[in-house]
Amino acid sequence: MTERFAEKSAEVFSGSFTQQEPIPDEAIEAALAVLRHGRLHRYNLADGEAGETALLEQDFAAMTGARYCLAVASGGYALATALRALGVRPGDAVLTNAFTLAPVPGAIASLGARPVFVGVTDDLTIDLDDLSAKAGQAGVLLLSHMRGHICDMDRLMEICTGAGLRVIEDCAHTMGAAWNGVPSGRHGDVACYSCQTYKHVNSGEGGLLITDDEDIAARAVMLSGSYMLYERHLAAPAPGAFAGIRLETPNISGRMDNLRAAILRPQLRALPGQVDRWNARYRVLEDGLRGTPGLAVIERPEAETPVGSSFQFLLPGWSADAVGQVLERCAARGVELKWFGAPEPHGFTSRYDHWRYAEAPPMPATDRVLAGLLDMRVPLTFSIGDCAQIARIIRDVVTSAHNSAGIPGAGRPL
Ligand SMILES: *Cc1c(COP(=O)(O)O)cnc(C)c1O
Repeated sequence: MTERFAEKSAEVFSGSFTQQEPIPDEAIEAALAVLRHGRLHRYNLADGEAGETALLEQDFAAMTGARYCLAVASGGYALATALRALGVRPGDAVLTNAFTLAPVPGAIASLGARPVFVGVTDDLTIDLDDLSAKAGQAGVLLLSHMRGHICDMDRLMEICTGAGLRVIEDCAHTMGAAWNGVPSGRHGDVACYSCQTYKHVNSGEGGLLITDDEDIAARAVMLSGSYMLYERHLAAPAPGAFAGIRLETPNISGRMDNLRAAILRPQLRALPGQVDRWNARYRVLEDGLRGTPGLAVIERPEAETPVGSSFQFLLPGWSADAVGQVLERCAARGVELKWFGAPEPHGFTSRYDHWRYAEAPPMPATDRVLAGLLDMRVPLTFSIGDCAQIARIIRDVVTSAHNSAGIPGAGRPL
């Protein structure tokens, strides 16, 4: 009965989960200016010209309060550069999240180093007890603020400082977010951001790296391929910092260019407003789904200032079949959910035991969380009304699946 009624009245969402907003006019004008003068390479500067890339670095350092900033070709490149700048060597163990995306363990593997996975909690943050237990196994933690969920950073830093672990923050999903008022990326030794189309600012591809550490910053500039032109940077250490490392640091070309930087600068200025728009959409989804039988929303800690650019919820204890049916029925109604419990990687979604190049001993507690974890993107092309409709559709599908005796295991612990 309930199900037939649901079919009959079923609303279908017709928006696109992958359509971004257009590049703002101001950014298009800035890009055209670069195209017209033709100096796209960051070090190709007219007399007295700073260049869009150096200015972007200066802007982002000011925005985050970091002493140094380096713009590079991608977020993943920034992560690998941070690992190299910290002196990670082939064969070294690097701690990282079991719940993250492929470029994170990939950055570790790119150095010939070994990812050692740390578990995830029901809050979708790194399991700090598991981190404590494994802290002695490595010299570096590559911490991914996956899907924008920020763990208790004060406790994390206490654990890492105590164990002598250096921390690289992967802020691909937390540009513009904060913990206890401190911008995300300002707790560890280095932080890396992505400017790829699906993140918080869009230059197609691109990455940013920030740090207060002079040595890390100088090495990162050299690594990115500065051809000894580091004096043309505006957010790099003074030339003296390069004296000891300039000849021993390889050039692993991965620079940002002036065209992308020109597109990014106006977007960075607009970011606070975009964050408000994301969070308004997130709250509508959260309010619409809270209290759905068999579904748990992720409660956000008070200390966190998030950026709701994606939305996650749990179907705790549901069988794989029951979750699969929810995915199918939502898809049929235009709502594209991603599932972190899938046996094979789909699209952007994969999990720690899919990365066959890394050793991954079983993590039952993490598996239990991922088995019920559903995820969706919230592009700013969605209106508030779209988000309310998406929540209604998910709520309807989950409620009927939960109530239906025909779906084995739905809502019942395994
Ligand atoms: C996108 C992403 C990256 C890497 O960014 P790219 O710019 O695509 O290389 C790193 N970590 C996470 C969690 C990401 O989602």
